[in-house]
Amino acid sequence: MRIAIATLGCKVNQLESDAIAEEFMANGHEVVPFPRPFDICVVNTCAVTAKASAESRRLLRRARRLNPEARIVATGCLVQVAPQDLLDALDWQVCLVGNDQKDRLAGRVLAHGDCIGLYMGDVARLTRCQDFPVRSPLSRTRAYLKVQDGCNAFCSYCIVPYARGRSRSLPAAQVLDQVKTYAEQGIREVVVTGIHVGMYGTDLAESPDLAGLLARLCETFPRMRFRLSSIEPLELTHGIIEIAQTRPNFARHFHIPLQSGSDRILRAMNRKYTGAFYRDLVTSIHERLPNAAIGTDVLVGFPGEDDEAFGETVSLIRSLPLSYVHAFPFSRRPFTLASALPETVGPQEKARRVDTVRGLGARKREAFYRSRIEAVEEFLVERIDREDGFITGTTSNYLPALIRIGDAMPPPPANSLIPVRITDVIHGRPVGVPAT
Ligand code: SF4
Repeated sequence: MRIAIATLGCKVNQLESDAIAEEFMANGHEVVPFPRPFDICVVNTCAVTAKASAESRRLLRRARRLNPEARIVATGCLVQVAPQDLLDALDWQVCLVGNDQKDRLAGRVLAHGDCIGLYMGDVARLTRCQDFPVRSPLSRTRAYLKVQDGCNAFCSYCIVPYARGRSRSLPAAQVLDQVKTYAEQGIREVVVTGIHVGMYGTDLAESPDLAGLLARLCETFPRMRFRLSSIEPLELTHGIIEIAQTRPNFARHFHIPLQSGSDRILRAMNRKYTGAFYRDLVTSIHERLPNAAIGTDVLVGFPGEDDEAFGETVSLIRSLPLSYVHAFPFSRRPFTLASALPETVGPQEKARRVDTVRGLGARKREAFYRSRIEAVEEFLVERIDREDGFITGTTSNYLPALIRIGDAMPPPPANSLIPVRITDVIHGRPVGVPAT
């Protein structure tokens, strides 16, 4: 059978889809890219924002339109938090598989030929981090590594703890095993990810914490570059920053969500740090690692965010050595504390605030790229496009750089890590030449 998998949402969802695809293939089926003709379509949904939920429903309807005879399977966070709404919204037969049973999805779907119904339990009761082993990643350069699932933080706007349950970590032996497989496949960069990755190890006896795990990975796989995905400000410890300072194969890149620069709004969001703490953290990373990329997320239009609070966010971002900023508008999510708060920022004003932060972020990004001109950075060769005449790749500090093929004689082998001198920023893209 031909299986198509459409995925929305975060890196963890993406990795889980890859593992599901492998399981289908291991059972003798062909996995085709969505929307190529399929017999079974799996839609791995997301519910992090109202827009992501709507997009998930749209994809399911599209799959149905593409092939009304096919079996359609929905899984992921939207299924976990709103199965009945989904069944009501789709007036045809669909198979729903909750996050708690996602690791058994392929087996379930293949065992039940009619494939309708609901396969899900209470995700809050899960105590084990489900393993989604990926034996043969699609990309040969970069791969995701899920070391943790779930979240105990309950930020007041966030649906994730309800969709993914409590924090659980993958034992270090399993983590190392997965990286060994990636190394055997020739992968050169691994993105260490999780839903709340800073909680790594807190639920496991005799397990390293996140800093310990990262140090072990860097030491065991010296040819591999490790990049840490988003980490909460309070969990970016001295030990982790020290790894970035001392281990050459740890990417100089941190993504640290801010969400708001107003202490009042941070409290209402149930986030346990202040703007001053965030400022000190970013400033100290910049002092210790001046070439590091430091990115952030900001949530605008939270209930009660008045002009003054928004102004505090803007001035904090403006004052910090950030390399890029992602901005999202607040949207009410079911079950969350903030869903009960009266909305005080209208849609137009919310959109204006998103634009303001994104504009600021774009200027920060350009300034960061320009600050690297003449610097030599470690560059992973991801794609050699002879037709366009460019080699594309990413530096340790997250520059999506380009090299003209003619400037690299002979062209470096794909998937190699080479030093590159950044020479310019053209149309918003850093350009470089191999450094000798
Ligand atoms: S830390 Fe907060 S924002 Fe992040 S997943 Fe947990 S509840 Fe959501």
